[in-house]
Amino acid sequence: MSPADITTAYIALGSNIGDRERYLAEALKKLDEHPHVQVLACSSIYETDPVGYVDQDAFLNMAAAVHTSLSPEGLLAVMQNIEQVLGRVRDIRFGPRTIDLDLLLYGEREIRTPDLIVPHPRMQERAFVLVPLADLFSHIPNTSFASIEKQLAKLDGKEGVMLWKKMQWPSESGHSAS
Ligand code: ADP
Ligand code: MG
Repeated sequence: MSPADITTAYIALGSNIGDRERYLAEALKKLDEHPHVQVLACSSIYETDPVGYVDQDAFLNMAAAVHTSLSPEGLLAVMQNIEQVLGRVRDIRFGPRTIDLDLLLYGEREIRTPDLIVPHPRMQERAFVLVPLADLFSHIPNTSFASIEKQLAKLDGKEGVMLWKKMQWPSESGHSAS
């Protein structure tokens, strides 16, 4: 990836079926293995009671910052492919899933197409997205963060997003820098 066409993007990851931590870790690894994506940093893992469709198990949520030379659409396609490979069954909207990957921010870009809206349209009202994202503020600057921090301060439900495990990136288990 040559520096000129690299963008910093932010991705939310969530899982509430099976070995949730493994799904998160696998998704991060697969993102990082893509030749045009490099995972720069990730948040801690948080456990969150489901919102919306509440008759399901608690989620683990986290956020990651990546460098990518892919277009936003290209990055979304990579994310959706990872969801497929990790066995997500798309049945109930907002319902249970092995792994959900949402594109939160792509540089400073604003995108509004039928398949992709960035910044992610529901991130501002989701404590389970903004709390993990806030872990990345100190690492990876983005001018959108000032407004996100303001929003986070106002948001209800932050106490429902509980620190579950600190997470290191690169992980101790054999990640090699790309
Ligand atoms: P949610 O993530 O809101 O729980 P889904 O993952 O089922 O719901 O929604 C997936 C759909 O949302 C996809 O068809 C995708 O095209 C669309 N979409 C629009 N904007 C984004 C975004 N920023 N990140 C991920 N998916 C998005
Ligand atoms: Mg999604």
